[in-house]
Amino acid sequence: MKKLKYERPLIKKMNAGLMNKFGTRTEFQPVKAIDGVPVTQLISEYGSPLFVLSERQMRKNYRSAARSFKTRYPKVQFAWSYKTNYLNAVCQIFHQEGSWAEVVSGFEYRKALGNGVAGEHIIFNGPDKHRDELILAIENDSLIHIDHFDELYNLIELCDELNKKPRVAIRINMDTGVYPLWDRFGFNYENGQAWNALSKIVGSGRMRLTGLHCHIGTFMLSTNAYAVAAGKLCELAYRCKTLLSTPIQYLDLGGGFPSTNTLKGAYLPGVDTVPSVDDFAEAITTTILNFGFKQDELPLLILESGRVLIDDAGYLLGSVIANKRLSDGRRATVMNFGVNILFTSFWYEHKISPAQDFDQYTEDMVLYGPLCMNIDVVRESINLPLLNPGDHVVVHKVGAYNMTQWMQFISMRPSVVLIDEQQNIHEIRQAEKLEYMEQLEQMPAHLQQYKLA
Ligand SMILES: *Cc1c(COP(=O)(O)O)cnc(C)c1O
Repeated sequence: MKKLKYERPLIKKMNAGLMNKFGTRTEFQPVKAIDGVPVTQLISEYGSPLFVLSERQMRKNYRSAARSFKTRYPKVQFAWSYKTNYLNAVCQIFHQEGSWAEVVSGFEYRKALGNGVAGEHIIFNGPDKHRDELILAIENDSLIHIDHFDELYNLIELCDELNKKPRVAIRINMDTGVYPLWDRFGFNYENGQAWNALSKIVGSGRMRLTGLHCHIGTFMLSTNAYAVAAGKLCELAYRCKTLLSTPIQYLDLGGGFPSTNTLKGAYLPGVDTVPSVDDFAEAITTTILNFGFKQDELPLLILESGRVLIDDAGYLLGSVIANKRLSDGRRATVMNFGVNILFTSFWYEHKISPAQDFDQYTEDMVLYGPLCMNIDVVRESINLPLLNPGDHVVVHKVGAYNMTQWMQFISMRPSVVLIDEQQNIHEIRQAEKLEYMEQLEQMPAHLQQYKLA
């Protein structure tokens, strides 16, 4: 006879159909499919955990954001932020939609070239551009966004050596009314450093000053901060034209628009609080349009949006390993995915849905990952139906920054699949294997034999 499982009895408040603090019961709907493909099918074919990306949602996000800007301003160009998610299949979707590439390292730069992006459509940002990478960017006529004076002086030397006049912009940091200030990248506006850099570039006669760039922060909740930033870029562009006889061809407002994720500690869910891309577009475009450029001298407006275009197109499917009672009586559920592949759980309270039917009881619980490490907490407190070992869950809005910041720690990185618009499944990155992990290791000869002392 099968032995019945014993659980120590405990008196604990459970919620069944209660109101939450907003008056409505927290609704749980099981999420059994992604874009029409059953979760059970995805897991049985590709394993658990599993990242799933929706091509339909990515294209929809892109088109909607592009529309927000293009209906308000005549010249708009998006550049896909590679570090947000540089799986090549993802990049190609945004390139197909018309995006250029925005890269912040030589490695990302080469990825963009490998994806077929024309050199002149690659924006090269970041504080650490190596000499050989700058040469490559100059040869390819890419847009080089200078971060600091040392880079500026190096570039001047390189221009002499190569006898080329590259197209450059500078990154500008500034007070946009959002604190703490993001002032570690680029040249400061308020203290005159940015103007100093612009004068030096034009004065050198070695480069073509083409644009002005800023990236004022990430997950920005203030539309006004973008209006302030756009205003300061316009003002510098005007001074470049009048005082340096150098018309500015583009203003690049960077990325930073928030996705609808909920930040940790936020009182209201992200879906109810974050401004829309329309709101940001309105703030930016009205500032530029009202600044006073002549109609035929309006600069191209570049946007380097990352997370807002992909976060809600990404899902992480996972499974329950076990349930526990902690010493204080709290329920703990151990999942098979941890913070090593869900980096964003450090700052988001990710929505997590059961992937199968459940009964009406719910309980506050902590969700742990599988790593043998104390900080491996996916959610500190979440109210969910009681989950059983083997049950599946869907973590929502994980498309941005997880598939680039994930790490091999204790467990390897899982497979990533893309569901295309016809609901076909494509594995776009295989699950890692031990051989892959050890590919780069080398064993010194004297250690090759396993030998106990
Ligand atoms: C990271 C980054 C972006 C994208 O930022 P999001 O917040 O994901 O929109 C754009 N531009 C630069 C320079 C970046 O470093």
